Amino acid sequence: MTRITEDQYRRLVSRRSVLKGSAALAALPLLSWTEIARAAEPHRFMQGDADVSVISDGELTLPLNVLSPDATPEQLAEIAKTMGWTDGSAHPSTNIPLIRMGSDLILVDTGSGNRFAPTAGKLSENLAAAGVEPGAITRVVFTHAHPDHVWGTVLDDGTLRFPNATYHVGATEHAFWTDPDIFSKLPENFHDFARGAQRDLAAVKDRMVLVKGGDDIVTGLSAIDTPGHTPGHISLALAGGDGLIITGDALSNQIISFEHPGWKFGFDAIPYLAIANRRRLIDRMVADKSAVLGYHFAYPGVGMAEASGDAFRYVAG
Ligand SMILES: [Zn+2]
Repeated sequence: MTRITEDQYRRLVSRRSVLKGSAALAALPLLSWTEIARAAEPHRFMQGDADVSVISDGELTLPLNVLSPDATPEQLAEIAKTMGWTDGSAHPSTNIPLIRMGSDLILVDTGSGNRFAPTAGKLSENLAAAGVEPGAITRVVFTHAHPDHVWGTVLDDGTLRFPNATYHVGATEHAFWTDPDIFSKLPENFHDFARGAQRDLAAVKDRMVLVKGGDDIVTGLSAIDTPGHTPGHISLALAGGDGLIITGDALSNQIISFEHPGWKFGFDAIPYLAIANRRRLIDRMVADKSAVLGYHFAYPGVGMAEASGDAFRYVAG
């Protein structure tokens, strides 16, 4: 599912052969396409005046049934096959939008850091490969405070990975995770999530702006309330052209979210609300013919939604 342009491939080959000589060329066929794509230039496009890159934070490894407890094992096996996952687990990408608008350089979420999954936490190295210094990021937007979206916020020494940024956080999301009674409200297996969210939200509190649906992050980039995956989840609308919807985890998989929007996602906190807002968001992108960027779709996760029967279809590209 990972795509790389011929031009990117040629640049990669020439860079490798310069660095390592002809032995690197001989070794190239041993690299998987995913590894080649990761080492290549990030996927980049213009949305109106905004210059958007998709920076990979690596991938997660999850049990297949987390994709949806509503799917049969046979349906999950078919989806895994289509996604190119061959080891019986799900390997969702983690696609972090980097948006240059005017004088702002904006990241949407900070990834897993080194705390959540050994196959994730690649944001810093991939930003460096794209020539972006951590200090150059002016704004960070959190779609929600789950581990794979915010645990990359704080470095091991307690300082911020992006020290000069303003942090835009959904007001409802912030209130949920910082509730002093959170641990009595959440099942025990989510307590680590809460401890992590509290660590990261506390770390940015002096640089934080609380937002609600409809608020501008900057002119042309606004928050959309999409609660359900978490109680205060937000997605983003980027203006320019027919627009771009940045889903966060309101949509979690490019097959399931579109073709079975009524199926629960294993990590949805309030499933009926997540399903309602997922449909609402897809209806909006179909009506507006806007592009979509999914955090967990196969890298780079950029495409379009189409109506298909009584559901939808995702068309990459
Ligand atoms: Zn996620």
